Amino acid sequence: MSKNWLQNISNKELIKRTRAMEKALHGVLAIKTELADIRRKNKTLPVIGEGDLAAKILFIGEAPGKNESLTGRPFCGASGKLLDKMLASIKIAREDVYIANIVKDRPPENRDPKPSEIEAYAPFLDKQIEILRPAIIAPLGRFSMKYILTRYGNIDPVPVISKAHGRCFEIKTDWGSMNVIPLYHPAVGLYTNSMQATMFKDFKKIKKLL
Ligand code: URA
Repeated sequence: MSKNWLQNISNKELIKRTRAMEKALHGVLAIKTELADIRRKNKTLPVIGEGDLAAKILFIGEAPGKNESLTGRPFCGASGKLLDKMLASIKIAREDVYIANIVKDRPPENRDPKPSEIEAYAPFLDKQIEILRPAIIAPLGRFSMKYILTRYGNIDPVPVISKAHGRCFEIKTDWGSMNVIPLYHPAVGLYTNSMQATMFKDFKKIKKLL
């Protein structure tokens, strides 16, 4: 069965994307920010992202938490389990999408990322978007939603997440049109169980966009 959530790219393109992602990782490793200093002091890891480099769907979270900074993998804690369940509900494997964060180093005590931190790490996310050329971006939560809708959609003011979740914003890019569908951050469903029904419903809309 063909997976219509993957781009049909050549091996040459795949190698090109792999190298470009490695370069982005080296850029993050070398970055000079307060969060990177904490990472070096604690001997933890940055989290650049993972997934299929031919994925049509790019999920963008906020920043790594404790588990992520220990493993270098995005969404590998409790929020990740819920993300996996929502993906399973639309019959798409985690390995077939790409998952990144806007901020690549863990903010202490899981505090919200500061605007200056988003600004410092966003060029790496921009690079990843340029590499992947996704057909669909699903920002997870308000921080990545605000960044993506402002930077790529020129949308101002950006609606609040309670109004924007599950809506599709069609954005023109150099590689064609891209659909941005903001979603609640999975942590929302962990704190407020009753939100999960809405979140699973929003996920169904991703499948419809393919
Ligand atoms: N929350 C995020 O936003 N990203 C992760 O990778 C984990 C939790």
